[in-house]
Formats: sequence, C-alpha cells, structure tokens
Amino acid sequence: MAKFIVDCPDCKAKVAAEEKGAAIRQYSDEAGDPYGRRLQLGNCPVCNQLLVGESVQLHFEGYDSDSDVWSDPIRVYPSPPKAFSSYRIPKVLRGSLLEAEKAMQVGAHTAACVMLGRALEALCRDSIGSRSPQAVSGEVQRRIMLGTGLRQLRDLKIIDERLFEWSRDLQVLRNLAAHPDDDSSFSREDIEDMQAFTYAITEYVYDLTDRYEEFKERQEVRKRPRPSAAEMFASVRLTDGEP
Ligand SMILES: [Zn+2]
Repeated sequence: MAKFIVDCPDCKAKVAAEEKGAAIRQYSDEAGDPYGRRLQLGNCPVCNQLLVGESVQLHFEGYDSDSDVWSDPIRVYPSPPKAFSSYRIPKVLRGSLLEAEKAMQVGAHTAACVMLGRALEALCRDSIGSRSPQAVSGEVQRRIMLGTGLRQLRDLKIIDERLFEWSRDLQVLRNLAAHPDDDSSFSREDIEDMQAFTYAITEYVYDLTDRYEEFKERQEVRKRPRPSAAEMFASVRLTDGEP
C-alpha cells in the first residue's frame, strides 16, 4: 500500500500515512502548459487522525520528464490554512500567511517565522498607507518598517494596546529569525503561537472591522424614522393637490 508523508497536527510531527484513496486532476492552461493537483487521504499511523494532503505536479511524463513528479503533500485537512473573508486583505499578506503555513508543515520554523513577519509588515504598509496622511506615495509606503509600522498602527487606533503588545513580541521573534548570525532555533510551539497571533491581528484589522461596519450600516437603516401615517397622508394630498 502506498504511503504519503504528511504533517499530523495532533502528533505535531511528519508521519507516513497509509494512502486509502487519492484523486488527481490534470489540465492545461490556455498556453498549453500542464498543471496537476493531487489529494491523498489516509490515517495517522500513530494517533489514527484522518489526514488529507494536497500536492502539485512539478514534472509531467512525456512533457518535461520520463515520469510524473509531485511536490511534498501539504496537509489540507484537518485545520486547513485559515481562510479570511475580507476582500481588503492585500495579496502579499495572504501569500505570506500561506507560505508560512507551508513552511511550518515541512518543519521549516525559521522560514515560517520570517514569512509571518513579512505578513505583519504587509499588514502595516497596507493599513497605514490607506490611513496616514504622511504615507502618501507608494515609495513612503514601501519604506514603513515593522517596528515603526506597528507603533503607527496603534497610534492610528487600527490596533489596540493588547494587540500592539502581542505584535511587539512577534517582531522580536521575527528579528531573531531574520538575522543569519543568530543561531536561535524556534520550536513548533513558538511558531504556532506566532501564527495564531498574526491571524488574530489580521482578523481584527480586516475581517472583524468589515463585519462591524456592515453591522453598523444595518443598525442605521433600522434606526431611520419611519414616516407616520399623518405625514404619509399629507404628502399624498400635496401631490394630489398639484395641478
Ligand atoms: Zn497523529
């Protein structure tokens, strides 16, 4: 029976799951370049957790290779990468969060840490760029560094004091990860915490803010005074009375 190596969230380790089922979709784009995706389903051999891994095809038999070659599977079930709903979330932020998740699953903790830092930096640039009068040009926006960015987010009241404290600790970890002379290592727990806080900040700044705005709009509509029967009657008579 075929096995696939995938990350088990309960064992917090890579395990060789026995493949109980798989599905492949291969297609080509308009230019004729082939694409392939594969899902593999199985159980964790240690804790029996259900696991689904997704791979993308790297090489294609008869096209650029003698045989099909697939990437390492990334777990998509359970606990798939968090999905955010706000359309305002910039592409670079979404992309960095996804990269961090992938890096975590292959045990690349330092890379995951750097990616989460990149995500926070993208969040700062986007939020401050659209709110602060000083950040008028794209050039200024690109120059906002993480430390300054986080402070500005707090000063502009985009995040509150507690989120600011969390984000400062994330920045410390990110700095450790980004400097090659530091041989600090990060545990999976450190990275999972960092990811949870980064998700919380992203959710607060985008999803929850959008949702609250929509909620307020609905409340406003409800609060609008409905015309009384007498007012409606008066307006009808006025219209009727016009020649
Ligand atoms: Zn397991």
